[in-house]
Amino acid sequence: MRPILIIGGGITGVTAAVELAEAGKEVVLLEKESHLGGNVVKMHNYFPKLCPPACGMEINYRRLRSNSRIKLLTHSELRSVTGAPGNMEAVITRKPMYVNDRCTACGDCLEVCPETRSDAFNYGFGHTKAIFQPHPFAYPRKYEIDGAACAGPSCSKCVAACSYDAIQLEAKEEEVTLEVHSVIVATGWKNYDATAIEGLNYNASPDIVTNVEFERLLSVSGPGKGKLARPSDGKTPSSVAFVQCAGSRDRNHLHYCSAVCCSASLKHALNVSELLPETKISIFYIDLRVTGRNEDFLERVKQKPAITLNKGKVAAVKANGEGEALQVTYENIEAGKKETRPFDMVVLATGLVPENGLPLQGADEDGFMTTTMPPGVYPAGCALRPMDVSASVKSAASAAVKAIKPSSLGIDISAEQ
Ligand SMILES: Cc1cc2nc3c(=O)[nH]c(=O)nc-3n(C[C@H](O)[C@H](O)[C@H](O)COP(=O)(O)OP(=O)(O)OC[C@H]3O[C@@H](n4cnc5c(N)ncnc54)[C@H](O)[C@@H]3O)c2cc1C
Ligand code: SF4
Ligand code: SF4
Repeated sequence: MRPILIIGGGITGVTAAVELAEAGKEVVLLEKESHLGGNVVKMHNYFPKLCPPACGMEINYRRLRSNSRIKLLTHSELRSVTGAPGNMEAVITRKPMYVNDRCTACGDCLEVCPETRSDAFNYGFGHTKAIFQPHPFAYPRKYEIDGAACAGPSCSKCVAACSYDAIQLEAKEEEVTLEVHSVIVATGWKNYDATAIEGLNYNASPDIVTNVEFERLLSVSGPGKGKLARPSDGKTPSSVAFVQCAGSRDRNHLHYCSAVCCSASLKHALNVSELLPETKISIFYIDLRVTGRNEDFLERVKQKPAITLNKGKVAAVKANGEGEALQVTYENIEAGKKETRPFDMVVLATGLVPENGLPLQGADEDGFMTTTMPPGVYPAGCALRPMDVSASVKSAASAAVKAIKPSSLGIDISAEQ
């Protein structure tokens, strides 16, 4: 049997890859970034157990490393896929990383590189050198060069500093054609554009951040190295507001519920109360959608005196200038009136939108993949709809079964996804 192509190396794609490979199938795992893990590796910790993502991912990386059936293509994107299940052809573009597999991540090149770039992994909080390792637990463990930031062959300081002959400044984009059996789409999600939500004024202050940025601000591998600080002045926030449904369940933005942002904000509130017990935390919500094992969070949050839950939609967030508190105006449903309260930081629980951009048909009106994709193409995880890690893992296993046997298309197992 030809290999199964998996597009997207987040938790969904990696799970599908190891499950298939351990069942004896050849797999090609395609990832557009230089490293695996998708959005999960950017998190401070993850529910329900609140363990650091590095632990969970490390188990998968070990399974992946020890299985020669998995071919990993990072920095790669699908250009086209044609053919019928069992007999498909995929054309892939591999972008240059300028650093080859001889890299040992020793870091000698960092000291000599004169160029810097915005730290994309940390959403622009801080800078890295033009040659960098995306984050300390990146897999594969090697450096890369940002071609847009690098001064090029006229500089070559890193080449001279590297004892392993790992840097190839002249590397070029390549095209690869693969014959594959079937395709799993695990391209996941990205954050809804917070600047589009007018009243919430995301751009008005560096202290108004999105929920994904907040993950990095909390993280030990983030800009604050585990100490939460206000981006504007580095001070410890004495109050933090969480604005739920920022863009979600709103017919002007995303009409659907993004499913995980209530649990994510409860997690963040607990994180803050553990890091900074004196900080006052308020969550503003329409209704809190927390199900299954995450209901425990709600109970834990309710027991924390520093956390208040406020039923009411936030109408506006205002920034009054440097050093001044942010003002959050919301409709207090219980009191039946509008109220405005000051906060040091505001976290927008921004919704999830699909991150696909693939040359494939079969997405719904919101861009999520559907179960009516072209034959032989099986979507999984957040490419299908917003879902948590545990649901993504189940969805990956379900897609893996379908991808092995395209002939089983007649059997409706879509409810398992
Ligand atoms: C603020 C926040 C906090 C969260 N916290 C938790 C939590 O604590 N616990 C929990 O269970 N869930 C949490 N979630 C949900 C969790 O992030 C998702 O369940 C998980 O990321 C889904 O994994 P995925 O692999 O489907 O998608 P992703 O993590 O998005 O991975 C998709 C991968 O595909 C790659 N890709 C995309 N397009 C292409 C392409 N065209 N070609 C090649 N590669 C591509 C991406 O680079 C990425 O590596 C949270 C979500 C948010 C918004
Ligand atoms: S590119 Fe060379 S110098 Fe830089 S981290 Fe890799 S092995 Fe070390
Ligand atoms: S060649 Fe590019 S990456 Fe290497 S040292 Fe110069 S600027 Fe940095």
